[in-house]
Amino acid sequence: MKKTLKIISILLVLIILCALVVTTYQYNTFTPVAVIQDADSKNLVYFQNSYEECRKNFILLADKINKRFEKVTISKLNIESKKDPDLTINYCYVPAQKKFKRLLILSSAVHGIEGYVGSAVQQMFMEELLEKMNLSEMGVLLIHGMNPYGFKYKRRVSENNVDLNRNCSNDSKLYKSINAGYSNLYTMLNPKGEVSLKSIKNMFFQINAIQKIIQYSMGTLRQAILQGQYQYPEGLYFGGNELEPSIKAITPVLKQITENYGIVFNIDLHTGYGARGTLHLFPNPIEDKKLKNDIETIFSGKHIDWGDGDNFYTVTGDFTSYIGRIIPKKYYIPMVFEFGTLDSQTTMGSIKSLHNMIVENQGFHHNYKTKKDEIKINKDILEMYYPTSENWKSKAIEDARIILSKSMKQFSSIER
Ligand SMILES: [Zn+2]
Repeated sequence: MKKTLKIISILLVLIILCALVVTTYQYNTFTPVAVIQDADSKNLVYFQNSYEECRKNFILLADKINKRFEKVTISKLNIESKKDPDLTINYCYVPAQKKFKRLLILSSAVHGIEGYVGSAVQQMFMEELLEKMNLSEMGVLLIHGMNPYGFKYKRRVSENNVDLNRNCSNDSKLYKSINAGYSNLYTMLNPKGEVSLKSIKNMFFQINAIQKIIQYSMGTLRQAILQGQYQYPEGLYFGGNELEPSIKAITPVLKQITENYGIVFNIDLHTGYGARGTLHLFPNPIEDKKLKNDIETIFSGKHIDWGDGDNFYTVTGDFTSYIGRIIPKKYYIPMVFEFGTLDSQTTMGSIKSLHNMIVENQGFHHNYKTKKDEIKINKDILEMYYPTSENWKSKAIEDARIILSKSMKQFSSIER
């Protein structure tokens, strides 16, 4: 009897060891599925590697548009900062040329570091698509660099560590809300002290994460982490204590420009979520049947993530929903584009994405053990939101070109 028990315990230990070795190997060798379609150089011209260059190109293209259309407004909003006097949100507004009926708002860099791809998509739109569009009854507002600090300094969040896509609310109750699920995960999400990629915690991060997945389920975990939190200012997904300067600054512009239009359609550009090399349409859940139908008409033939998949989550304080709330009398159509980079729909991909964010945030607040760690952590986070692969970049532009040109035609037929 004793012998059998001994054998069973040895076997159990072996099985656990095997599982540890296999998951550690899988985790450390994880790479998302590569984009195989070759890059087209005409798509790559829209990408630049600094905030200033992106902004400069946006302004150059806005000036070109100004020569082609009537009454174009090109302007900027200075965003207050303790670190940098040159942070601006730039915008270009082309009013409907005959009758004010529909308005498209194409916005980028609500998550600053995602602005490199967002800006590239906007530049392509301005250079190629705008002139082919029928603007007699449709206006277009392009907003460049909603979070210029994060854009310039390659962080997702604002200077105050605030995730702008959790910060947008016209009701201060949001900032007092409590995300209890997040509190349970606080120590895992926000470790203290200098970050070292060689620490046991980081080397075996996936084991801790898998243990949490077993304990809470993937869906519950995803929701608790990603929804947004308002209690821990240095923590991940912090939504702030009040409206951030960027949102405060853009609010009157949005109210004023939308004023004469009946129908307003926002596409907010993001990266990082979903299958690598795929453009996901990812709106926050929508109950209204007509609105849902209209969105399906606008993007007909394209899959929309309505929230039926396992990797679905909702957020509080997002920018797209906020626009709808500040213009309650308009027929408002919200949409988020997510360009997938790291296969975050897979378990390993989502653990990797989360780990990248945790160590970046820890390093930012508590510093790095070595220079090597700092370089690697910052390289990984940039790669996650702005991949270096030319194939990836080219495909992102191509997908955006196809979907935007098609959806703009469809949008012209939408009525209130
Ligand atoms: Zn984003």
